[in-house]
Amino acid sequence: MMAAITALIAAPALRVVLLERLPRTGKKLLATGNGRCNYTNEAVTPGNYHGAGDPELAASVLGRFGAEDTKRFFGALGVVPRTEERGRVFPYSGAASSVADALRFECTRLAVELECGFDVREIKPAKGGFLLRDAGGKTLRADAVVLAAGGRASPSLGSDGSGFELAKMLGHTVGTLTPALVQLKTEGTECRALAGIKVRALVRAMNGANCVAEDFGELLFVDYGLSGPPIFQLSTRFASGECGAVEIDLCPDIGASELERMLTERRDALSHLECGEFFGGFLNKRVGNLIMRRCGVEKLSLAVGKLTGAQIAKFARTIKALTFNITGNGGWQNAQVTAGGVDTRELFPDTLMSRVCPGLFLCGELLDLYGDCGGYNLQWAWASGRAAGAGAAEWLAG
Ligand SMILES: Cc1cc2nc3c(=O)[nH]c(=O)nc-3n(C[C@H](O)[C@H](O)[C@H](O)COP(=O)(O)OP(=O)(O)OC[C@H]3O[C@@H](n4cnc5c(N)ncnc54)[C@H](O)[C@@H]3O)c2cc1C
Repeated sequence: MMAAITALIAAPALRVVLLERLPRTGKKLLATGNGRCNYTNEAVTPGNYHGAGDPELAASVLGRFGAEDTKRFFGALGVVPRTEERGRVFPYSGAASSVADALRFECTRLAVELECGFDVREIKPAKGGFLLRDAGGKTLRADAVVLAAGGRASPSLGSDGSGFELAKMLGHTVGTLTPALVQLKTEGTECRALAGIKVRALVRAMNGANCVAEDFGELLFVDYGLSGPPIFQLSTRFASGECGAVEIDLCPDIGASELERMLTERRDALSHLECGEFFGGFLNKRVGNLIMRRCGVEKLSLAVGKLTGAQIAKFARTIKALTFNITGNGGWQNAQVTAGGVDTRELFPDTLMSRVCPGLFLCGELLDLYGDCGGYNLQWAWASGRAAGAGAAEWLAG
């Protein structure tokens, strides 16, 4: 939608047709940010993006349309921004539909021709332009094409990976695709008992005893493992096989020896309680019970006063480094984005036109570039859609 809007603003006389395989546009947008749509991030820098290919491409595209431009663009369409912690920007309404509607209404105002249910399966260069064919054999001729078909993540929301096949058909190279920003599966069944609990924690991705990366935020325990922004953020480290375990620091603001001292005092003050109540008021009760079990305290009815100094020290170590072995991830169905995609060296960085197929423009998640968790991926979708739409209008005018 962003590319279509930009092309029509640049060249109002153009005929712009938006092809969408689903019955409606913007289905994925409605699911973003847990239904609130984290549509940009005030702290966006090229360093928030990952991928092989042209290392300058993200800087070039984001340099022309950054977070302030996104806020201004949507502001002009009536979306009031609300900035939350870590620069994440949401619509003030708290509803993702505000962002999807703003784009839809703008498409209508500019007379973008919307053709839903057109599932593009083939694009062929033809007579100085392109011939597009849908799954049912319907065709459309175009002088230029902006391919904005997304990646493979969450196919039920529209992007089924067919964009990669179309790009390959037109001569592009597509690297290995991996689900990214996705939940992690843990060994054993411990997480099942904790499902639904959220904790603010520092999460480390571990390769043996080495911490490869860490992220702080709200971690969510789910039936089969771990979820939440810090897990999403670290998830590609596991998909690539670089890391095998997650280490969770449940009290990153309290040092290990300070924590041990606190727990010792707590044992002395609460010696009349049972162990099942020891962590109450400090940690989530079910998480506390897990710490007890991990430290070998199976009988939760044991009196707190019976806990030894060695057990208290072990509690402190476990709270600072609660470890789970990772056995897999939530897969494409649950991933937010795709790592890997069309090689960005095959595009002109200013217009995002293909170097191998003139008249074809590519943008969004389809490219081998994905952002961190926190509004960076939508920022990339807007900025690159903008560049591709303007590039296509310029190409057609020339
Ligand atoms: C659950 C979830 C939550 C997310 N939350 C956030 C968030 O809060 N903030 C953030 O920055 N990012 C978020 N993301 C990531 C972000 O939504 C995507 O990176 C972004 O939408 C990609 O934009 P795109 O335009 O490239 O592709 P998409 O948004 O996937 O759009 C591609 C469109 O093309 C259509 N299409 C695909 N193939 C064809 C075809 N062959 N023919 C016709 N039409 C086709 C699809 O139906 C779809 O409508 C989230 C993703 C998910 C799945």
